Parts: sequence; structure tokens; C-alpha cells
Amino acid sequence: MHVKILGSSAGVGRSARTTSFLIDGHCLLDCGTGVGDLSVDELLRIDTVLLTHSHLDHSGCLPLLADAHATHGGPGLTVHTQAETIAALREHMFNGSLWPDYARMPDEHAPWVRFSAVEVGDAVPLSDGMATALPAQHSIPSIGWLLEGAWRALAFSGDSGPCLPFWHWISHVPSLTDVICELTYPSEQSELAVKAGHMSPALLLPMLELLPPNVHLWITHTDQLHRQTAMKQLKEGLPALINVHQLEQGVVIEL
Ligand SMILES: [Zn+2]
Ligand SMILES: [Zn+2]
Repeated sequence: MHVKILGSSAGVGRSARTTSFLIDGHCLLDCGTGVGDLSVDELLRIDTVLLTHSHLDHSGCLPLLADAHATHGGPGLTVHTQAETIAALREHMFNGSLWPDYARMPDEHAPWVRFSAVEVGDAVPLSDGMATALPAQHSIPSIGWLLEGAWRALAFSGDSGPCLPFWHWISHVPSLTDVICELTYPSEQSELAVKAGHMSPALLLPMLELLPPNVHLWITHTDQLHRQTAMKQLKEGLPALINVHQLEQGVVIEL
């Protein structure tokens, strides 16, 4: 499995792109503004979207991606996410007012956007592996995703505060080699982080004790303003044998 990072920022501005990862050319994990850098041909190759939650930095390109499929005769998209997220996207995004209702067009029975509700623990088969919905703890309903390839596995927290069930879950995956975790705030804003359902170094460090050694920890969703401080605070307390990296657009992780 080939995971290419299209965007890993918490917001936009110059070269910053928000969260989206392209898996084997046909599946997106989240649909942030990084998707806008793909060519039309690449957009039309996408048939599956795994969404963590409905916030626009993770879902904002979904209506435009659906539009590309509708305009250029693409195969349409199957979107796997929680029922609460599907309800939010139907009510506020594909409602015929903000954007055409591609979940009913061109035909109610064969629309451009097909929603598939998942709960934590549900697995979605991919072309070269498996994706499983993981628990998360955010300000709105949200999930993480586990991607299991032939040899290795990657866990993505989505937007989440310190969610113990997520860390317990992934600590029992024998093939786990990579974890992508959000780190939105510096440690001094941990109280705000908990309220908003986000992570700070002080909140993340105790969770890392559950990880097996030699895992690669990729940090994402860090505001440009706090990036240096948060990474410094994290590295100061990091357990031995955990390799930490800042996730950047263009990085490829092979599983
Ligand atoms: Zn969010
Ligand atoms: Zn976010």
C-alpha cells in the first residue's frame, strides 16, 4: 500500500494544504485542500473516500471532487464514515443550496456520492489492504483510521484529544510501523486542547508509552505559529526508540 500525503496542515496560506492522504491512487483518507493539487485524471481515478469527520479542513474538497466526477463522467465516490458525519454532510453540504445534492444525482439509486456508514471496529476492504475505523475524541463525532497493507500498518488519529481507546487499540496491532497523530496546540494550551478535542505534547507524551518500540511517529495538523514550540516540547519528553517526524506534503509511506 502506497500512502501519499497531499496535505497535513491545520489551515491554508501559501503552500499549506489541509489534511488529505492518497492511498494507491484510488482512495482518499480525508478530503482537505490537498486534493485540489491533483490533475483531473487523478481525481477521476478516486472511487473511495475514508472520512474522519465533517470539519471542512478534512471534508472541504469533497463537493468539488464529486463535481469533477459528475462533470467528467467519473465513477463516483463511496464515502465511508460515521452516520453522524453522513447526516451533517447531507444536511449542510449536499443540500441543493450550498452545493448540488450529488448524494441523489443523477439518480437516487446510482448517485455520484454514495455514503456508507461505519462504526468503530468496522473494516473497509481496499485494493491492496484493509482500513478499519478507530475511536477518537473530538468536539464533534470523529474517528481515526487504521490502514493495514501486506507487511505494515499505519494508524491515523484524525482530529482527536488524548483518546486512550485509540492508543490501546493500535498498541495491539502486531504489524504497526507508523502512526500519524495530530498535535494542534503547545503544552501550555493543554486545557484548551482538551476542550476542543485536540492534542498537545503534554497530553500526547503519556499515550506514547503504550506504543511498541521503533514505531515512526508522524506529527500533523500543527498550526504554523506553534509548530516549532510543540515539536521541541514533544522531542524533550519523547520515550527512547520512538522516531518522530513532521508530516509534510509529498511524503510517501509504504505499507
Ligand atoms: Zn476537526
Ligand atoms: Zn482538523
